[in-house]
Amino acid sequence: MKNQPAKIYGVLGNPIQHSLSPVMHNAAFEAAGINALYVAFESSDLEGSIDGMRALGIRGMSVTIPFKTSVIPHLDALDPLAERIGAVNTILNENGRLKGYNTDGLGAMKALQTKIEPAGKRCVLVGAGGAARGIGFMAREMGMELVIANRSMDRGLALADFLECPFIPLERIREIRVNVMIQTTPVGMFPHEDASPVPDNVFRKEMVVMDAIYNPLETHFLRTARASGCDTISGLEMFIHQGAEQFRLWTGLNPSMDVMRAVVTNILK
Ligand code: NAP
Repeated sequence: MKNQPAKIYGVLGNPIQHSLSPVMHNAAFEAAGINALYVAFESSDLEGSIDGMRALGIRGMSVTIPFKTSVIPHLDALDPLAERIGAVNTILNENGRLKGYNTDGLGAMKALQTKIEPAGKRCVLVGAGGAARGIGFMAREMGMELVIANRSMDRGLALADFLECPFIPLERIREIRVNVMIQTTPVGMFPHEDASPVPDNVFRKEMVVMDAIYNPLETHFLRTARASGCDTISGLEMFIHQGAEQFRLWTGLNPSMDVMRAVVTNILK
């Protein structure tokens, strides 16, 4: 067993050097006693990278910006959920047959479920980009009542149309009453940590508030929500839960989420 070569996994994106996926997955493999190595692959040649995955027998791949949609025609099969979302963040190599999955939305919902049961709750999604699409799709699947709040009307309306839910311009977000608010824009990311896409007085203390951003661990948005009495969830939880779903797809095992959380938190602190 010890002499077997390590199974290779990786993340494909561009840029990729700041990705926290390698430390997270390598720690999870080690904790599970699996002889595997997870590598960051930066590439501008998507087709060549996918051919390389097949040729080299790379067992599994995370897929990130800018390839989540463009990778689809290069795969052999798609999980129905990834097909309906229209984006792939995970590839499983089953003896040379590459199948695409999407764990982003499920990861977000699992993180949310640590604080509130989604079914029947009213939720506003701030933003209408790729992250909002995956999260919104799973939120609908789990029975949430959604509203999209976005800066630009065209993108906001397009996502609201896809999710069959109402749209409200971002500047009118204070007009709606919700149980859950999920922030999916890049506003407030390091190094612009004082920025927030919503006014500070938007929060009500009975709300559960989640941010997709995990650097910083607590954004201005989340800090203000917490100070207003809301229950808050960092983007780190979403990141760890989507990674745990990837690990399950690749290995059939449950990873140690405590180990994953600890290594990533250590770096971000
Ligand atoms: P994206 O597709 O580029 O979407 C960006 C969205 O943010 C759009 O709706 C855009 O609105 C809005 N936006 C951008 N700048 C804004 C501003 N100054 N004010 C108001 N709205 C603004 O990005 P994405 O791929 O969805 O990613 C968004 C964030 O989610 C990133 O920070 C990413 O790191 C994070 N993320 C986290 C995880 C995780 O596991 N925790 C997973 C995926 C993504 P317009 O339509 O008006 O341009």
